[in-house]
Amino acid sequence: MSGGFVLKGIHHITGVAGNPQNNIDFYAGVLGLRLVKISVNQDDPGVYHFFYADERGTPGTDATFFPYGEAPEGAYGYGVSPRIYFSIPFDSVDYWVERVKSRGLRVEEPRRANDEVLIELRDPDGLPVTLVAHKEADDKRVYPWRGGPVPSEHFIRGFHKAEIVVASCKHSGMFLEDVLGFKKVYEGLHRVTYETGDGGSGAIIDVLCPPGLGRGYVGVGSVHHIAWSVSDDVSQHVFRERILENGFRVTPVIDRKWFKSIYFREPGHVLYEIATLGPGFLLDEPIETLGTRLSLPEWLEPMRGWIGSVLPRVKLPNGIEVP
Ligand code: ZN
Repeated sequence: MSGGFVLKGIHHITGVAGNPQNNIDFYAGVLGLRLVKISVNQDDPGVYHFFYADERGTPGTDATFFPYGEAPEGAYGYGVSPRIYFSIPFDSVDYWVERVKSRGLRVEEPRRANDEVLIELRDPDGLPVTLVAHKEADDKRVYPWRGGPVPSEHFIRGFHKAEIVVASCKHSGMFLEDVLGFKKVYEGLHRVTYETGDGGSGAIIDVLCPPGLGRGYVGVGSVHHIAWSVSDDVSQHVFRERILENGFRVTPVIDRKWFKSIYFREPGHVLYEIATLGPGFLLDEPIETLGTRLSLPEWLEPMRGWIGSVLPRVKLPNGIEVP
């Protein structure tokens, strides 16, 4: 397809949350990810945008949330991404089950299937979160957060895969193959798996098309969008042109400060983003103090006073309160 231009895998996955403190306590406190950036939803700057990742904020490890407080819940159905899959080391299953239980959270008995073990949890807003211990997962792609509560050897290794639920596996799959350059690697009943780039953990998407569902809705407790990585602006431009050539709508390139993004809906109505790897989260904060203050892009700085007055006060994992 795009002659050498490939999507490298998942860049980040963004969800909609309710209470911001509960969101921090789960993703930083229980899962032990590093809160690498505290910012606001650039399209709705009265709402936080939290970014949780590895120590450096490496793309592929980054789960992000808009905590909307009291807001309508999402609903399972066509057009949503219903679940987040994180990769954990294969030998860390017992550690994680114990850790989750010791926090008083409900956890199902781990499910063993082929080469993987699955631990199924829910975040405080009911979003299903599955920890996948896969035999062949590449454990070298992340920088464990050494200042966090989870020992490096058990630290989450980034996303394992993305998942979408759509009315037609065929249409969503053709879009992945013909426009975005994914390869089909498995086809089952109502579930087709694709990989991009070098494939493997972090570069996988499952397309589910169970019959008889209604339309789903994005809201509290659901994924808002899935972002795929490109190495640079040129590659992003190539994909943007391909999306347009195939008759789909796509936004202009939007500068998100820490990466540049384009957004578009795939045929099943799930919102995708293609984001550049750089410049990254170390652009405006040193690694030692990442995510310990409210970071705003320059164009929102004039609104800092108002933003600070409307954001609810939250306590960070290190005890500091913001805004
Ligand atoms: Zn995004």
